[in-house]
Amino acid sequence: MAQRHAVAEARLLKKWICMKCSATHRGSKPGSCRKCGYKNFRPKAAERRKT
Ligand SMILES: [Zn+2]
Repeated sequence: MAQRHAVAEARLLKKWICMKCSATHRGSKPGSCRKCGYKNFRPKAAERRKT
């Protein structure tokens, strides 16, 4: 069960959202947004929630 959760979380963590223009970046965290060049990102909906 722990393993399953880790896999699901890893998948979610592979998306980054630009905090300026909200562009989605897949894969590892980009150095800067390819759309607007902003350098701050947040992970997509991957805050450890316990359901
Ligand atoms: Zn951007």
